Formats: sequence, C-alpha cells, structure tokens
Amino acid sequence: MTATLLVATRSAGKRREISAILTGIDRRVVFPDDLGLEQRPEEAGLETADTFEGNARRKAEYFARLTGLETVADDSGLEVFALGGEPGVRSKRFALYDGPPDGVDAANNAALLRRLAGAAPERRRARYRCVAVFLAPPRGVPQVFEGITAGRVLEAPRGTGGFGYDPLFLADELGRSFGEVPPEEKDAVSHRGRAFRAFAEWLAGQRRA
Ligand code: IMP
Repeated sequence: MTATLLVATRSAGKRREISAILTGIDRRVVFPDDLGLEQRPEEAGLETADTFEGNARRKAEYFARLTGLETVADDSGLEVFALGGEPGVRSKRFALYDGPPDGVDAANNAALLRRLAGAAPERRRARYRCVAVFLAPPRGVPQVFEGITAGRVLEAPRGTGGFGYDPLFLADELGRSFGEVPPEEKDAVSHRGRAFRAFAEWLAGQRRA
C-alpha cells in the first residue's frame, strides 16, 4: 500500500506548486484541509522562530504529532539585500495586514514597493529562499532541504500569475517575473521547486537504501 505524506500548508498557492512538484513520488500526498483538520489557535503561533528552518521544523513537528503521518513543511520568503534580508521570515506578515490572502499579498507588495521607492537597480537585488523539513514520526531525524532563486525586485508588478510577491520578483534565470511565466517555468527554477525536488530525490533514495 502506498504510504501517505502530509504536506503541512494551508496556502492555496503553495499547495498548487508543491502538488505539481511532487507528482510521481511514491506517496499519496495530502494536505491538512483534505484530512478535515480544523485550524486550531495554536497553529497560528507556530511561525515564531527567527529562521526559515526553525519555522518549517515547528510546523512539521506540530502536524506529525497531530496526525502520526510522515510530514513535510516549508517556510519561505523573499530576502532583499538592501533591506538587510527583510522581509525574510516575516514575508507573510510584512505589512501587518489582517485579512483575506489576496488582501495580504496586495498589502505586502505595496509595503515592499514603498520601502524600495527610488532605490537603484543594484539595491533591488533579492532572493527567494525556501526551507523544507521532513519528519517521520515518532522518532525520525528531521531532514532539511533548501532552495534559492536569485533575482531583483521590480519597480512595478509584471503579470498576474503565481502568488505573494511573484509579480514583483524578476528571476535572473528567466529574465521575467514569476508573475509572467506559466507555473511549470516558475517551478523549474523556483526556491520551492528546488527544495522539494531535493526532498523527492532524497525520499526516492531512502526507498532504494
Ligand atoms: P510562509 O507560509 O511562512 O512560508 O510564508 C510565505 C510567504 O513568503 C508568502 O506569504 C509570501 O509572502 C512569500 N513567498 C514565499 N514563497 C513565495 C513564492 O513562491 N511566491 C511569492 N511569495 C512567496
């Protein structure tokens, strides 16, 4: 019987991407909403570490304990060099806006553009970073995978694809924003694509070992 892998995210954007990236792995991939797991108040408090790895680990530990399933969680964000790595681990909460996901993204993008207003291109260098942590309960050692995509923050949004900061992020390798390219092109070079493909390769190797 195929084992189940829980991907610990409630984000619709991440769900779309991770489902596509993990197509073909030897697991039945499920998300918390598929299991009918209600969002409890303590879930909101999980992302309080000051590193991506710390947050991903807290999310993986929480959901693995709750379900007893093999769990992978990611934490990710945009690091802008001229802002000393901000928004970084605070990417989702950058504008401190409380509301529906679309509103949060719009507020965050507006805040980022304000912070970089008038900044020259070399000061707009940035990278997306994603850290995925896999945990097999009850005694598995956490496995950590990382992906990075280099680029810069545009002066104005381009395209409407992706989610979050995507229309503002021009990926060096594509010469286009993540909002302008089809999902497969983003996944091929994205921080999340890289982290989760590394995870999938590791998982395949475990089976052979
Ligand atoms: P997390 O759910 O704590 O990992 O926060 C992720 C946040 O980082 C999102 O809400 C976005 O603001 C930003 N982010 C991370 N990855 C991406 C991406 O691939 N595209 C756009 N924004 C992203």
